[in-house]
Amino acid sequence: MTQQARKALSGVTMKPFWLDRPDAPDTRFPLETATQCDLLIVGGGFTGLWAGIQAKEQNPDLDVVLIEAGRVAHGASGRPGGVVSTSVMHGLSNAARIFPKDIDELERLGHENMHGFLDTITRHGIDCHAEWGGELTVAVDPDHVPALSDEHRLHLEHGHDSTLLDTDGVRAQINSPRYFGGIWSKNISGTVHPALLAWGLKRAAIELGVRLYENTRLKRVVDNGATLIVETSIGARIKASKVLLATNAFAEGDRRIKRRVVAVRDRVLATEPLSDAQMQSIGWQNRQGVYDTRTQMNYMRLTKDNRIIFGGRLAYAYGGEISPSVDQELDTYEPLAGAFFSTFPQLDGLRFSHAWSGPIDLTTRMAVHFQRYHGGKAVYAGGYSGFGVSASRFGARIGLDILNGSRQPESHLEFATSMPTVVPPEPFRWLGAEITMYALDTADEKGGWRRPWLNMVTKLGFPLS
Ligand SMILES: Cc1cc2nc3c(=O)[nH]c(=O)nc-3n(C[C@H](O)[C@H](O)[C@H](O)COP(=O)(O)OP(=O)(O)OC[C@H]3O[C@@H](n4cnc5c(N)ncnc54)[C@H](O)[C@@H]3O)c2cc1C
Repeated sequence: MTQQARKALSGVTMKPFWLDRPDAPDTRFPLETATQCDLLIVGGGFTGLWAGIQAKEQNPDLDVVLIEAGRVAHGASGRPGGVVSTSVMHGLSNAARIFPKDIDELERLGHENMHGFLDTITRHGIDCHAEWGGELTVAVDPDHVPALSDEHRLHLEHGHDSTLLDTDGVRAQINSPRYFGGIWSKNISGTVHPALLAWGLKRAAIELGVRLYENTRLKRVVDNGATLIVETSIGARIKASKVLLATNAFAEGDRRIKRRVVAVRDRVLATEPLSDAQMQSIGWQNRQGVYDTRTQMNYMRLTKDNRIIFGGRLAYAYGGEISPSVDQELDTYEPLAGAFFSTFPQLDGLRFSHAWSGPIDLTTRMAVHFQRYHGGKAVYAGGYSGFGVSASRFGARIGLDILNGSRQPESHLEFATSMPTVVPPEPFRWLGAEITMYALDTADEKGGWRRPWLNMVTKLGFPLS
């Protein structure tokens, strides 16, 4: 297996497949002189871009500035699997786990969010290779099938267009000897090319009048009473009435954000395009976004040119470092490549073209939350925990409403007013993460102490087992 993985990885490009395109837009100039604005958005990923667009669409006269430390989409938003879901709470089961009493309203908000998403990409002519084949959750062990049936029941109770598949049914969708059952959910969901989406949103935000500066990092926020002064890396100061911190796992803007947000990373591989014969051998004609039930979960999808994007191998570096050098070492991708070939043994000989990792803002809630600072003049919106391609539009909308005094009824629901649990600081965070990552990697093969450990972590708030 290692030999096969090593061979398939040789010659791989160590950067996100999504960002490796000649048509990437030009980088905008950094902010070099002092300025002031009504709303400052910090972060040029999906949350920040959606916030800029929605703020200008609600009020074209609002003066909105967006600053991005690097380039737009070079954080999580240019690196994901790109599976799009209707849920704004990391799936229906997670919504039922965290906010059972509001689940119907959260479902309604999820649908509303996806309609808004579709409306925006249509109106602004954003071609992000969207495909609406739905989401498929696949059981990789016969013992996982009963849990899928329970989840399917929950889907039906909430009116989802969802089909439960047995072994033959799931293999008729995607031909893998690892699959023993599945749920195919067809609620407006599927896949997008995330970088094309982010670049399209960047264009739309600029056309709407957002003043967008790249290579401009927020260094410090000073509370001036009526306004906030944001100091940037190149010395220009921004005086803003309100600040939305859309900084994901980077969690910058206030050191207290990190108490609840753990910066983990996830690894992803892209294959070379599959030939027609290879495509025929795997089926996958409905081109769903796929998650499996492995303890160290894998997700996958097809690209427009029939590559397979295959991701899912969490890691944590001391202090929550987001791009440690270890992510440039090819051998750290071998277990993921191994999982790929155990899923598709018929693709032996296929090579990977790209390998990369990206930051995930993990919280015990596993879904967006809002932290308020400076008497409500600054709000952090984040914590999607690896499920934010479409939920970020919702996070941005609620974050803006909280900054505006929570005028919408949904901003008074528990998800908007409560917080995920505080996570212990270093070195306990690192130690806990090390043991947990090791248990996640080996629980399926070795069992033993690993299951009780993962159950304990689940009881502490992280739903891992
Ligand atoms: C490997 C991987 C796979 C994923 N797969 C999926 C998936 O299939 N489906 C799904 O729904 N979600 C997925 N996600 C999650 C999804 O990508 C994120 O939830 C989403 O992109 C978050 O967007 P964001 O704008 O909040 O964060 P980001 O895109 O990370 O944007 C934050 C931005 O803030 C900037 N920034 C940070 N600090 C500062 C500062 N001081 N000053 C200025 N700018 C700053 C950063 O440079 C960054 O660009 C995945 C994530 C990863 C990493």
